[in-house]
Order: sequence, then C-alpha cells, then structure tokens
Amino acid sequence: MAKGSAGQAKSVPNKHLHARIAYLHQAATHLALHRPPITHTDPSDADLKLQQHGLPLLLAAQLKAVSQKAQIRLSHDMKRSICKVCSTPLMPGTTSETRMENLSRAGKKPCADVLVIHCRNCHTKKRFPMGAQRQKKKAERKAAAAAAAAAGMATHDNEVEMKNV
Ligand SMILES: [Zn+2]
Repeated sequence: MAKGSAGQAKSVPNKHLHARIAYLHQAATHLALHRPPITHTDPSDADLKLQQHGLPLLLAAQLKAVSQKAQIRLSHDMKRSICKVCSTPLMPGTTSETRMENLSRAGKKPCADVLVIHCRNCHTKKRFPMGAQRQKKKAERKAAAAAAAAAGMATHDNEVEMKNV
C-alpha cells in the first residue's frame, strides 16, 4: 500500500502546491468580484479596508510567490488574469478594461491588432499582439533551414551532374 501511494505521489510532483495555487486563484477572483460595498462610516477600520482592497491583491501576490518559489509555470489564462505590477486579479469590466487597438494607418493592417488590458488599480497596460503571426520556434526554424539547404544541395548536385554529362 505504502509503495503504491508513493508511486502516485511521484506522478504529480508538488501536487499540494498546484492545489494551493488553484485555491488562491479562485479565492482572489471571487473576492475581487464580490467585494463588499465601500462604506465611509469608519475609514480607520483596517480589517474592512483590507477586505475591500487588499485581500484579493494579497492572495494573488501569494499565488505568484508560491509559483515562483516552487518553479511551477502558471497556465496562460491564470498568468494573464493577474496584474504584473500590483497583483490585482484582472476581471474585465470590474478591475480591468479590455479593448482592441490598431495603430496602423486607418487601422487597415489586421496584423497590427493589439489586445490592451488596462488595470484600473495601478493603470498599467498589458499589450498582446493578436493579428501578427508568431515566429516559429528555433528548433522548427533550424529544421526548415536544414531542409531548404539539403534541397539546395540536391539541385546543385543535379546541375553538376548535368554539366558533367
Ligand atoms: Zn495593476
């Protein structure tokens, strides 16, 4: 039994940290969405202030710290849903604004489409190119270059053979 459980634990390393990251993300997004209404009756109440502004930030900052410490790569969506500067969970419409931008002349070039996510807390803008095609990975580029070179060599050899004949 003990051996079996050890084998299972090995299959997913740092399973508890993955669970913690998922929990922190859920908690941060939930608190950012369901923020208690801001009241100005007692501004000195530190607990209420933390609940209104600080807690989602704190949880998201902890999430980033956990992933960095354990060297766990965050998923694409999770990484993009947290502000890089102030760690606010970015919810379109509530804590962030999302819009498309095209700075080419008259917006004619579809490859110049850029998704801009604006954090309402610290006014940082994240920009993601959407229309442009991603450059291929270096290994793929090398393979393509090698294939082209091989094809070039082959044609060259054929030419040489033709000349000899
Ligand atoms: Zn921010």
